[in-house]
Amino acid sequence: MTDLSHLKADFPVLSNGVHFLDSGASSQKPISVLEAMDDFARTSYANVHRGAYKLSVAATDAYEAARERVASFIGASDSGEVIFTRGATTALNMVAFGWGLEHLGPGDRILTTEIEHHANLVPWQMVAKRTGATLDHVPMTDDFRLDLGAYDEKLGPDVRVVAVTGMSNVLGVMPPIRSISDRAHEIGARVVVDAAQLVPHSPVAVATLGADFVAFSSHKMLGPTGIGVLWGRMEALEEMEPFEGGGEMISDVTLQDATWAAIPHRFEAGTPPIIEAVGLHAAIDYLDSIGMEKVLEHDRELTGIALDRLGDVPGLNIQGPTTLEDRGGVISMTLDGVHAHDLATILDEEGVAVRSGHHCAKPLMRRLGVAATARASFYVYNTEEDVDALVGGLRRAGDLFGVGG
Ligand code: PLP
Repeated sequence: MTDLSHLKADFPVLSNGVHFLDSGASSQKPISVLEAMDDFARTSYANVHRGAYKLSVAATDAYEAARERVASFIGASDSGEVIFTRGATTALNMVAFGWGLEHLGPGDRILTTEIEHHANLVPWQMVAKRTGATLDHVPMTDDFRLDLGAYDEKLGPDVRVVAVTGMSNVLGVMPPIRSISDRAHEIGARVVVDAAQLVPHSPVAVATLGADFVAFSSHKMLGPTGIGVLWGRMEALEEMEPFEGGGEMISDVTLQDATWAAIPHRFEAGTPPIIEAVGLHAAIDYLDSIGMEKVLEHDRELTGIALDRLGDVPGLNIQGPTTLEDRGGVISMTLDGVHAHDLATILDEEGVAVRSGHHCAKPLMRRLGVAATARASFYVYNTEEDVDALVGGLRRAGDLFGVGG
C-alpha cells in the first residue's frame, strides 16, 4: 500500500477531521499553495505584460514561469501551447467556439460521448445549432465503458471533431484516448479531450495522449479556482480564432479592425489569473514531489479497497466498473430506495463529505436509469480510514432506511 497518510497534515481544511471524499468536484489546497499565493501577493504582485517597472516584470516572470511549469508537467514541447483560461469549462468553450465556429458547417458531424460532463457537451450543442453541424455520440456499454465498436462505426469522413472525456467524473472510467485519437486522425478529425479529472490523477504526456486539445482545471489538482488550462497542438491552435477580444490579445487595433497577438497571448484577453497561476505552479510542484505515478497508484489502491468493502453493503449499487482496469478514484453509488441527497446528508452527519446529484452529466444519469448518485472521489490526502468511514456511514444509512433488512 502506498502510504501517503503523512500528507494530510499539509491540508489545513482537513485538520477538523472531515473525511473529505469530494475532490472530484474540487480538491483541498496544501499550505505550500496557500503560502505561494500569499507571498506573491504580498511581495511581487502587479499586472503582467503591461508595465516597464520592476514589479510588473517580476509578476510577468512568475506568470510565464507558471506556463513553463504546466508545459513541463504535461510534457508539452512548447510552452506557447499552454493557454491559461478560467477553468476546464472555459477551455472547452474556447475550442468549441474558437475552432468550431470556424471549421464546422452543414454536413459536418461532431462526435461526442454519452458519458461526457456537460462542459464537453453543451458548448458543442450550442455550436452545432449555430453552424448547422449535427451532433452524434458514442454510447456507453452495459459494463460502463465507451463502446469502441460503435465509435469505429460512427467515424466517417463527415466527422470533423471528436470530443471525449479523459476520465469520467461519474463512472471513473478512463477511455483509451491514444487509440481514439489515432482513429479520429485517420479520418482527419480533431480530438478534444476533457482532462479535468485525468490530469489531476494520472501522469499525462500530451505527445503520447495523441489529442489535439486538452482541457483541465487547477482547482481539481490542489491549485486555486479561477484558472485552468487549454493545451493545444500548435497547428490546431493556429486553426482557432480568439473566443474573446480585448486587451493584451491584439497585435494592432484600428477603429475598424484588429490583428492578433502571437499564440498563446491571442487567447488570453484581459488581465489573466496572475496570483492563481502562481498557485497552480506551487500545486504542480507539490504533485510532482509525490510523483504522478504514485498519485495514480494511491488513488487506485483506495478505489480497490473501497470497491471491495462496498460490495458487502446491502442494497448498494456501484454505478461504474467494479474492477480497477482503466479506472480512476471516482465511485458513484446508489442505495436502494434512498435518494442520493439523503444519503449524502446522512454521510455528512458521520463526518463524510461526498457529492450527490447528477454531477453535470444528465444524459449519463438517464442512461444509468437514475436521477442522481452519491459520489466518493479520492485524492492524495485520503486514507483507508476515510474509506472505512464511508463504508460505515453507508451501512448506517442502510440500517436507518431499512435497506436490505
Ligand atoms: N469536466 C469534468 C469531467 C469535470 O468533472 C468538471 C468539473 O466537475 C468539468 C469538466 C468542469 O470543470 P470546471 O468547473 O473547473 O470548469
